[in-house]
Amino acid sequence: MWYNAYGARLARLCVPRVPEENTMSRPFLSSTVGVTLIWGLFAAVPAAGQPTGYEGYQVVEITVESEADVQTVRELQALGWDFQVWSEVIRPGPVQARVAPAAQARLAASGLDYEVIVPDLQQYLTERFAGGRERGFFDSLRTFQEHVQFMWTLAAGHINLAQMINVGYSVQSRPMWVLRVTGPGYAKPAVLYHGAEHGNEQAPASVVQYVANYLLSNYATDPEVAALVNNVEWYLMPIMNPDGYVAYNRYNANGVDLNRNWGGPGSGQDPWGGPYPFSEPETQHMRDFLIAHPTMRVHIDLHGYVPWIMWPWGHTPEHCPDHSTFLAVGTVFRNLIAAAGGGTYQIGTIYEVAYPVSGSSTNYSYGVLDRWAFGIEVVDSDMPAICQEFLNSLLYVGEWIRGYDCNGNGVADSDELASGNATDVNGNGVLDECEGVGDLNCDYAIGFGDINPFVLRLADPAAYSAAYPGCPDFNADINGDGSANFADINPFVALLVGS
Ligand SMILES: [Zn+2]
Repeated sequence: MWYNAYGARLARLCVPRVPEENTMSRPFLSSTVGVTLIWGLFAAVPAAGQPTGYEGYQVVEITVESEADVQTVRELQALGWDFQVWSEVIRPGPVQARVAPAAQARLAASGLDYEVIVPDLQQYLTERFAGGRERGFFDSLRTFQEHVQFMWTLAAGHINLAQMINVGYSVQSRPMWVLRVTGPGYAKPAVLYHGAEHGNEQAPASVVQYVANYLLSNYATDPEVAALVNNVEWYLMPIMNPDGYVAYNRYNANGVDLNRNWGGPGSGQDPWGGPYPFSEPETQHMRDFLIAHPTMRVHIDLHGYVPWIMWPWGHTPEHCPDHSTFLAVGTVFRNLIAAAGGGTYQIGTIYEVAYPVSGSSTNYSYGVLDRWAFGIEVVDSDMPAICQEFLNSLLYVGEWIRGYDCNGNGVADSDELASGNATDVNGNGVLDECEGVGDLNCDYAIGFGDINPFVLRLADPAAYSAAYPGCPDFNADINGDGSANFADINPFVALLVGS
């Protein structure tokens, strides 16, 4: 009953403040040392599940120069497994693809200008995965099993702060694990980060895992980290596409590009996006997981390997209603990455930065569920550098969402949230200080009993405070303009009627 027009608009108003300047700087080495100690327990275990069968496969970078070239690449892509385009979009510029031996002659005869950047993918993978196993978990890419094992190790080592959640199973029945990290208390905003929705984009799995490890390893000694863990629920999912990860395949085991398989505005248009939106178990589970956790206000989907930070929309050049907030957060994000030595990232909407994209997680999460949804590409797979370059920006998001300043009064009521006394009155999916807008008698509902106190509040604020002690007087600011006055009367009536 609270999902009326005003409820929806109020949800939009719930904009965490963006600090003008973020001075967070974190020592990277301490976390790496912590990792070495934990991972050392498993260092002797041989890596199982390393991708195999890629002898003679090449990775090439094609220089696409024209629309005719785009068409030629699409024709090659129709070969399926033997020619898998790895770039997010096919457009003039560099486009990467994995080419099986069976397709190499065809590529050579295509007339396309290309360069072989990995002559033997199997050899490359063996080096990538094996390198540094004896040193630390983040010194090289890790297999699916190693990632899961590492998550369990973190959970077991911090039983009061971390728990493993299986959100469902992949096509080939592999578990989709999320590590939930948070301190005491409940009713706090949550963030969801996941990597490897495209199974061949593996560095983001480590980037997400690095955040989990950093939060847990430094909780006891760093008050700033403790505050982040106590005031935010972190849902950290290194690998969203386990079958693709194991096979080093962009798609899932049904050959579907999962990040084209979500619903939402403009979905169902991509030829690689499956028969219909949410046709795949992996996207179904993620959708259900997000819906079941309305407190997840931020959803970041991490990919590789171009320097892009993106937000909705993907299907249209139009800017979304919250573009300015996305831009502000994206700018901080970019600056933090640059400050950490990660270079310059391009920021903007998916449509602007990449190309028209149909069926992405970002479009669904924002467009349907009203979450702050970003699609982020990490620029390379150099380990552990890429993890370190992203740490501060990903921690910053927690800092940002923690300052959930719904009514724009400049104060986030995190104390109230942590006490668990709030109820989701306005139905915006999160317990926040917007609760109670319109609820002038503080009975946790909006009804005709609120009319008299509303009138009293407008006419005589002091008398209202005396009559309803402890009842926040900004509840009468129905239109969210920062003050309670006669301009709130019509919205108040609409709220009553709508409810
Ligand atoms: Zn991707």
